[in-house]
Amino acid sequence: MPSSANPRHPIALIAMTLVMAAIFVADTTTHYEVAIAVFYAVVILAATRVLGRHALLVLSVTCLLLTWVSFAMTPHGTYHIGLVNLAISNAAIVVTAYLVVKMEAARMAAQAMQEQLMRIARGQSLEGLTTSIAHELNQPLAAITTSGHACQRWLAQEPPNLEKAGQTLERIVRDAGRASEIIARVRSLTKGELPHKMAFDFNEAVQEVLTLSQELMQTHQIALNLELDEQLPLALADRVQIQQVVGNLVLNAIDALTLVSKPRRSMTLTSGVRDGRILFAIADTGVGIAAGLYEHLFDAFWTTKKDGIGIGLSISRTIIEANHGQIWAESNASQGALFLFNLPIAKPAQEPAG
Ligand code: ADP
Repeated sequence: MPSSANPRHPIALIAMTLVMAAIFVADTTTHYEVAIAVFYAVVILAATRVLGRHALLVLSVTCLLLTWVSFAMTPHGTYHIGLVNLAISNAAIVVTAYLVVKMEAARMAAQAMQEQLMRIARGQSLEGLTTSIAHELNQPLAAITTSGHACQRWLAQEPPNLEKAGQTLERIVRDAGRASEIIARVRSLTKGELPHKMAFDFNEAVQEVLTLSQELMQTHQIALNLELDEQLPLALADRVQIQQVVGNLVLNAIDALTLVSKPRRSMTLTSGVRDGRILFAIADTGVGIAAGLYEHLFDAFWTTKKDGIGIGLSISRTIIEANHGQIWAESNASQGALFLFNLPIAKPAQEPAG
């Protein structure tokens, strides 16, 4: 029996083997004129419920071999009619095998698509959740500011009211504790996602993300330069997660570009291989990053935007590191910002077949 059979269906596999044996015996002992071998096609069809694509191919080849062995061993009947029947049953087996393998591939593609949709939806619900948690975080932060001002006033009194100032300080400590609890909760949430690694065409994944942000770039009159290496090997990472990171970097670049005059707005995306890894860079000609801010960029909840949350780069770093890569920012030679990340290259054995 083929090796990649599903072990959860041992009874089905035994039944299949018995049916095949019965067909073989009947095909061998009856006359050449009786085309029993076409029933192998029925076995292959039934096997789609139990076997994977590879095992189905092995089963089909086995059926073909059995028809030839039967033909060679059949003692009675008209030889040339036997040959015609052999050709018909072989054609039936090959056509059935081709159709079931196609069916199986389509089913697997649909399943992969469904899984990808679920993962995107989960990513979105995580984003929604994080937004509401960040909103929640604003409450202790606002309370800390109010208490801080009150504390200043108590201390500025003549004489300073140390008892009241002490009470407001206690409130500050309590609210700060609440804020760090919320941050810890978000951290544990974003850490939960394990990457689903696969070999994939990195440039194609980037192009898909760009299709989604094309309209936004046109609206803001941003010139896009693509310098994607056409010879790029396949990347080994979670495709959907990497697309989230690229999307986030593109959106950040758009935000930075909308703050400068229209003729200056351009974004350059580059892919290539450096030190045996895939290297992706996104350079923009936007407002750029002040020298002292580089160390904060990837901190959670660090933002310079009025409506920003400051988790995009922090989540991006978590994702890239979980996929065994590195992400960093460099000062852009001309103007604006330059973000880079690298990822492992898929080994030939990890590349999808065909
Ligand atoms: P958010 O976009 O919500 O602020 P991020 O974590 O994505 O959160 O970004 C954090 C900060 O990093 C931004 O507020 C901004 O100050 C800075 N930043 C990110 N990308 C760029 C860029 N391309 N140009 C200039 N500053 C950037």
